[in-house]
Amino acid sequence: MKVQKYNSDYIETLKMYKQAIEEANIAVWQWNPKKNVFFASTALKAITQYDINSFNSLFSFIKKIAIHEDRESAINDLNFFMEGKVSFYRSEFRIVTKANELKWILFKGNMIKNENGEVNSIFGVASDITEEKNSKKAFVENVYYDSVTKLPNRDLFLIDIKNILQKTIYLNQEGAIIFVDLDNFKSINDTLGHDFGDLILKVFSQLLNICVKDYGNLYRLGGDEFIVLIEKFDSIEKLEEICNMILDYCKKPFEINEKQLYMTTSIGISIFPRDSYDANDLLKFADLAMYESKARGKNTCTFFEQALSESYTRRILIENELKEAIKNNEFSIVYQPQIDALENRIFGFEALLRWNNKKLGFVSPAEFIPIAERTGIILDIGNWVLNKVCKKIREFKAKKYRFNNVAINVSPIQTKETNFKDKIINVCKENEIALSLLEIEITERTLIELNDEKIADLYELIKKGINISIDDFGTGYSSLSYLTVIPINTLKIDKSFIDNIEDEKNRAVIECILNLSKSLKYKVIAEGVELKDQLEILMNLGCNIVQGYYFSKPVGEDELEEMLKNN
Ligand code: C2E
Ligand code: CA
Ligand code: CA
Repeated sequence: MKVQKYNSDYIETLKMYKQAIEEANIAVWQWNPKKNVFFASTALKAITQYDINSFNSLFSFIKKIAIHEDRESAINDLNFFMEGKVSFYRSEFRIVTKANELKWILFKGNMIKNENGEVNSIFGVASDITEEKNSKKAFVENVYYDSVTKLPNRDLFLIDIKNILQKTIYLNQEGAIIFVDLDNFKSINDTLGHDFGDLILKVFSQLLNICVKDYGNLYRLGGDEFIVLIEKFDSIEKLEEICNMILDYCKKPFEINEKQLYMTTSIGISIFPRDSYDANDLLKFADLAMYESKARGKNTCTFFEQALSESYTRRILIENELKEAIKNNEFSIVYQPQIDALENRIFGFEALLRWNNKKLGFVSPAEFIPIAERTGIILDIGNWVLNKVCKKIREFKAKKYRFNNVAINVSPIQTKETNFKDKIINVCKENEIALSLLEIEITERTLIELNDEKIADLYELIKKGINISIDDFGTGYSSLSYLTVIPINTLKIDKSFIDNIEDEKNRAVIECILNLSKSLKYKVIAEGVELKDQLEILMNLGCNIVQGYYFSKPVGEDELEEMLKNN
């Protein structure tokens, strides 16, 4: 008989392997199905806490320790391997240890057969992969879920919609993307702080989830944008019903940190595969429809249609052309006189911006100002207007023309700039004009959203003589109590009230505004006066400063100068 001799190096190597395997917490196991013997190294006991000697097959081991939900697939993995359907054994499943801990375990193995093709031995390794599994889960949560609202995010949405699209097309069904965007969230975030903004998003997402969970899945795209993905719907009416439900749900005040907040949303809907077979297009289309809802005065829903795509193209063109507009000298200012109808002379005028672009021709400020605001270009434009107007005031004053002040329109984004107050003071200083020659027109919405610091800035400007007026008064907020705290001294009655001045109710509102202004010592200007009758009614009510086509449309500098010469 030949005695095999092992040299000491070989034994050392074996010891090293054994130690390495033990330290790595990897169990080595072997199973002889014919003899019903199952053996494993101590590491398997360390992982499972079970006495491995008590098992006589890998099957009985798995049946004992695998959790209910994973048991069948774990048994299948082993069967497939034994039946030769796969050439290696690999199976991962969850187990409950004898000490009642939940763990993930991974089995890998191979087999040796005899000359007759019968299985002699199955052997392999097993390891505890709980940590790896948990960090993978955390990774998935990090990558596919939003940390603020815990909702699935844009990436997961794009994966889901692609799958659902295929299914929808295959089954010949229709689905929808409902794009939900909170109105004015950005300014709330800016005024009340980001932590509070996050709270709003959390509360809002919970509400929205309750509202839509029976119909589809909710995702947070980012910022204040949410998506409801509807796999299948029966009729357009049903979709409308869901959207109206969302709008109604938002009508109730949000209770956040004992603050009651009223929020509205704008909604856009695209339908698949009707509108497109492409997930990104569908998202863009729903976004366009949402944008249309905003343009239509917010708090409403819009279905995507092709025309919206065209208006989007125009919007992008305007956005790009605006960037170069100052440099290319495309802006100018026209002035609309404000008439003191009692004395029949020009009291002041409002400066209105005009834009003449080589590609687009004349574009109305009502169209390009909102785009300039969204992109931030409004700050440069606002500075340009301020400088230009102050230069004109200086020139006209040097020529001794008689007028009280010139009004300029100021966008909310300008008022929120940190150096807004100093900018106004400095530009007046540079042009050596009194601040009282300047009036700034701000909308109600802007005023209501200013923080204490900005309000203090405006009060300081008023103290230095500037006029601050509320533009489009009466169209924004219903509560008048805010008038007592905001820094203004002029109200501009909105054109819509003047248009309907024949109507008794409208007249009553105007009368009310005039009485209020008398007690608060505000100057009042009526906007958009087009007819003699309107002027007469206004004068009878005691409102004598008026602006509108009846006296004059906005005019260029030269024409204005002619008017001032005779003033
Ligand atoms: P707004 O401040 O309410 O300006 C009044 C608008 O009504 C002007 O339109 C004016 O031309 C028009 N208007 C005046 N009287 C009458 C009238 O009797 N009948 C009719 N139908 N319309 C009249 P415009 O110039 O197109 O300006 C539209 C809006 O664009 C302005 O509304 C203002 O919000 C904004 N805007 C204009 N210039 C500037 C600017 O320099 N900066 C900012 N931020 N916004 C501006
Ligand atoms: Ca105005
Ligand atoms: Ca106005």
